[in-house]
Amino acid sequence: MHIYDDEVFKMACDQFQVIADYLNIDKNDRDRLMYPKRAMAVTLPVHMDDGTTQTFQGYRVQHHLTLGPTKGGTRFAPNLSMGETAALAMWMSWKCALNDLPYGGAKGGVACDPTKLSHRELEAVSRRYMQEMIPFVGPKTDIMGPDMGTNEQVMAWFMDTYSVYQGYSVNEIVTGKPVSVGGTVGRRESTGRGVVYLIERAMDMLKMNPEKSTAIIQGFGNVGSVAALSLGLKSGVKIVGISDHTAALYNPKGIDVKAAELHVQKKGNLRAFDQGDRIDPNELLEMPCDILAPCAIDRVITEKNADKIKCRILAEGANGPTSPEADLHLNKRWDEVFVIPDILCNAGGVIVSYFEWVQGLQAFLWTETEVTDKLFRILESSFTRVIRRAKEHKVSHRTAAMAIGVERVMKAKHQRGLFP
Ligand code: NAD
Repeated sequence: MHIYDDEVFKMACDQFQVIADYLNIDKNDRDRLMYPKRAMAVTLPVHMDDGTTQTFQGYRVQHHLTLGPTKGGTRFAPNLSMGETAALAMWMSWKCALNDLPYGGAKGGVACDPTKLSHRELEAVSRRYMQEMIPFVGPKTDIMGPDMGTNEQVMAWFMDTYSVYQGYSVNEIVTGKPVSVGGTVGRRESTGRGVVYLIERAMDMLKMNPEKSTAIIQGFGNVGSVAALSLGLKSGVKIVGISDHTAALYNPKGIDVKAAELHVQKKGNLRAFDQGDRIDPNELLEMPCDILAPCAIDRVITEKNADKIKCRILAEGANGPTSPEADLHLNKRWDEVFVIPDILCNAGGVIVSYFEWVQGLQAFLWTETEVTDKLFRILESSFTRVIRRAKEHKVSHRTAAMAIGVERVMKAKHQRGLFP
């Protein structure tokens, strides 16, 4: 289907076919499970600060609506395409199903570089995007959230634009909003916290001492910075490497991640942060460490470096950081590298988004302790099921995780039947 023609979509399809072979899924069911239910492309003309009008391309893909409304983040990134958006929506489907959430997967975004937009331009792009999406989304059909390049402020603009159109506040249309406009406590930290909860579970299983362990974290945004802070300050792991799109830093003596966070808050990135040696970003992934957490972009662990990474735990905070070709190498190294696959590892974000949506629908607010306890309970159950399935069926953690997700969607599709 050429509208989704894209390497990332092909990667998501290849991963799905591996699972479909393992589950012996009938060929009549494969395309029905794999291809998105609906997709929308929009053109967004925006007044720029210099007086010109620039047009941006926006997308939203709803992968399946079998289990409930769709749910998914919004990515603002320069090369975003329909195919990449569809791949991300498909991964969301398996992630929601694995974690027993009543959602299908969705994803959306705008092909733009948010770092090059002024505050006013970013607001204009965000509002225009939501305005164009109004006929396509809704609190019972498709709920948006943040992803790379978007944040709480963008979610507040989305919610405001949708609400102005409806004539009343519809805060359950988006998650990841500021707490002041109906967001939930604990959402901002949820993905990073979930990543660290699962790393701690894996360390426990592998009998690793956190205080004698080291970690390298790629990406210092919402997921990476919270993971680094929590792993460094709460779990006592020494953070020896961090990076973002401007710099990669390595320091075997340890990096003060609190200082790094303050620096990024002030300067916007790690470019001028001076704790550690500046190294090639690709090399950083190959440096020795106990935990490697890619928390930035897709396909950074490839067949070229899969045999060179030297970690004991690979915690996939990002979506799709490991290519299927790299998986073939990692599968052979299963007793050296313990993989926590993305749809499990970064599920904390969508789980707490689900809590935010539920609180919004009921207009009933929970405490941070309630949010965190419920989050860890779901992650614990998913982690246990994935590890058990992988052991019993002698398959990789990724295959086990995706199989649990795909099976749930397939079962629901069979039970609901196919409209004649
Ligand atoms: P973000 O925009 O807050 O941060 C992204 C970070 O990655 C930034 O520090 C950026 O500089 C860095 N980065 C970009 N390109 C890079 C490169 N080539 N090398 C190194 N660093 C690079 O985004 P985020 O919300 O933290 O999302 C990061 C990843 O986690 C994405 O794959 C996203 O889909 C996934 N994810 C996010 C959430 C969430 O709740 N935010 C939930 C689940 C999954």
